[in-house]
Amino acid sequence: MGASSRVELITIGDELLLGFTIDTNAAFLARELASIGAEIVRRATVGDTTAAIVDAVREALDRTGAVVTTGGLGPTSDDLTKQAIAELFGRTLHLDDETYARLAARWRSRGLPEPIPSPNRQQAMVPEGARLLPNNQGSAPGVWLEDARGRWVAMLPGVPREMRAMTTDALVPMLRERWTSAGAGDSLPVVRSRTLRTTGIAEATLAELLGDLAAGVDGMPLAYLPNQDGTDLRLTVRGVSAAEADRRLQAGIARLRFVAAKWAYGEDAADLAAVVIDRCRERGLHIAVGESCTGGMLGSRLTAIPGSSAVFLGGVIAYDDAVKTSELDVPVADITEFGAVSETVALQMADGARGCTGAEIGVGITGIAGPGGGTPEKPVGTVWIAVTGVGDPIAYRTVFLGDRAEIRYRATQSALDMVRRRV
Ligand code: ATP
Ligand code: MG
Repeated sequence: MGASSRVELITIGDELLLGFTIDTNAAFLARELASIGAEIVRRATVGDTTAAIVDAVREALDRTGAVVTTGGLGPTSDDLTKQAIAELFGRTLHLDDETYARLAARWRSRGLPEPIPSPNRQQAMVPEGARLLPNNQGSAPGVWLEDARGRWVAMLPGVPREMRAMTTDALVPMLRERWTSAGAGDSLPVVRSRTLRTTGIAEATLAELLGDLAAGVDGMPLAYLPNQDGTDLRLTVRGVSAAEADRRLQAGIARLRFVAAKWAYGEDAADLAAVVIDRCRERGLHIAVGESCTGGMLGSRLTAIPGSSAVFLGGVIAYDDAVKTSELDVPVADITEFGAVSETVALQMADGARGCTGAEIGVGITGIAGPGGGTPEKPVGTVWIAVTGVGDPIAYRTVFLGDRAEIRYRATQSALDMVRRRV
């Protein structure tokens, strides 16, 4: 057994092979394992047959001696992973008392009728000599099998939530320890990334703004990742120790943040709605919304954040003009004169939302999400967004690009950013 950290990933499932499910497990594992120094040399997907699983795992073991699989640990007849790999290692399966006891406790706590059906009991069957990886999110534990030459396979569940928790809580610490004791330790070169999230600025404008940093920071390449939320800036460092990687990334992100300043709202998986909720909570401010073309999506994004009840009071989905008038007090005359998609109406909707809830901050959104309904003066994608109650009232007109879903989502992102900048 050497200090080599070359690893192969095998994801198992017909639904992956046929493209009905996107293989997010392999992507997650590759990132996580690279960040602790693994060299991911190959990723493969096979269907739910014993032969395919055995072939793929055998070949991978011959190449690297280190394999992580996901999927096929469940109770159904298409769940063959444990059985197949145990056979490859020449091990038999036996019922593991502790796993069975945990399974039974889980079964009872869910109020399911006993006895436990034999397919479910399958999940407590474990290859001899296996080490188990606890599953804090589900019933089937992960399985680690190792042969006399130190070649190993870690079998993780297919359900992404369970797989992620098991990777972070069990597999990563195990591999760290293994590679440390093999002499590679913390000096093992890693691949790590950090992302700065920006919004409200076009990719090319951002690149211009970054000037000298546009191509990279201190030798770390910079990737521009435009998406519905804005443009993410991702710095990647490779080939240095974990501690050194983290130090460089921290310094690099700080430099980017300094330049991207008001367009940067968070890092990595930060959600703008959460950022807005946090800021408002700190300042004791409340939000209400009057939404037309977004149909409640802004309220939905805000309420998706745990703890949003301290900030978000509610709002009105004023899709029809009559509702804008009856619930948000938008005068009929203004709708007639300026149109429902106008600065005046957006401001009145924001004020109307404050009026009917008592919130300090009101947000009004009115626009044309398409595909029909556009005119030369107000093409599809035209959205007026207003924020009132903090500082002077403001309203912006934007013509968002994309299809109906993208236009609606981008309008919520833009509205959230207007609130963020005001608070
Ligand atoms: P279960 O106990 O649910 O049967 P399992 O370990 O047998 O778990 P699978 O049956 O292979 O796992 O998959 C369970 C669910 O997880 C399915 O909905 C499947 O689409 C999803 N899934 C499996 N593998 C992946 C993957 N690589 N990427 C994303 N989703 C996956
Ligand atoms: Mg399954």
